[in-house]
Amino acid sequence: MYNLNGKVALVTGAAGAAGIGRAIALRLAQEGADLVVNDLLEDDGIRSGLPDVVAEIEGLGQCALAAYADVSQADEVERMVAQALERFGRIDILVNNAGAPAGRDRVPVVDLEEDAFDLVQRVNVKGTYLCCRAVARHMLDRGGGGTIINISSMAGKFGVPRYAAYCASKFAVRGFTQALARELGAAGITVYAICPGLIASERIDDMAAALAPDGVDPADHREVMIADSIKNSALGRMVGQDDVADIAAFLASDQADFMTGASLTVDGGFRSE
Ligand code: NAD
Repeated sequence: MYNLNGKVALVTGAAGAAGIGRAIALRLAQEGADLVVNDLLEDDGIRSGLPDVVAEIEGLGQCALAAYADVSQADEVERMVAQALERFGRIDILVNNAGAPAGRDRVPVVDLEEDAFDLVQRVNVKGTYLCCRAVARHMLDRGGGGTIINISSMAGKFGVPRYAAYCASKFAVRGFTQALARELGAAGITVYAICPGLIASERIDDMAAALAPDGVDPADHREVMIADSIKNSALGRMVGQDDVADIAAFLASDQADFMTGASLTVDGGFRSE
């Protein structure tokens, strides 16, 4: 549907078997892009790991490189981008998808520990900035052109109790996106944010564990979260990973160019903003 033949995309935080990053990477590969997929080196026993994602992309006939890096560390980001350029010679599409795990940050602000707050900002905001800086420098050096997609959240559009650290980070991503779009537009580089609603990735298990009221089994709370999400959807179902991947593929294409700076909500009509 969208012609990404000959383009190279870098997707961060792509190791989750049910993650948004994996879905976006596969969708971009279906459109003809080669991929650099990133995540942390650690295997937490939940995420299937980058080798599986690389194999799936190769199964679609595209080339793929696994690049392990902590996106919140400047030297690791620089090394990841250098690795990508050494292998493919270019990066045309950057998707900043990596997100700090939901956990100790999902508490009322009065109980929010400083280190839990910092971790969320470090991965979600600083990680986005570092990857944008490194890849935008490359895009400018080669004469311009390219697309950057930052994954924000519905919680980047309105405040949610017990999500203050997360909301702060995802609102920040939208502001950063708008500013960067205005800086890079003259060089033909477009910058967008996507704001998904609740998705049943591995992350929802972390969220349910953190948010379950005392005495409620996290697995039961997970079902409540899913039921609420379906009830609030205009379309009667949860947001799927592929819903986000479809929008990412559109934004990565030339057809989306005049929307640069936009933050697109993908929430099945939950808020319709
Ligand atoms: P996920 O946990 O599968 O994906 C996040 C990935 O980021 C993980 O694989 C994790 O290992 C990786 N990561 C964490 N810290 C990192 C770091 N420092 N460097 C590199 N990688 C790191 O969860 P997901 O739901 O697929 O989330 C993907 C993105 O979508 C996140 O930014 C999240 O905030 C956002 N989002 C998720 C939902 C949802 O309901 N699941 C909704 C809106 C937005």
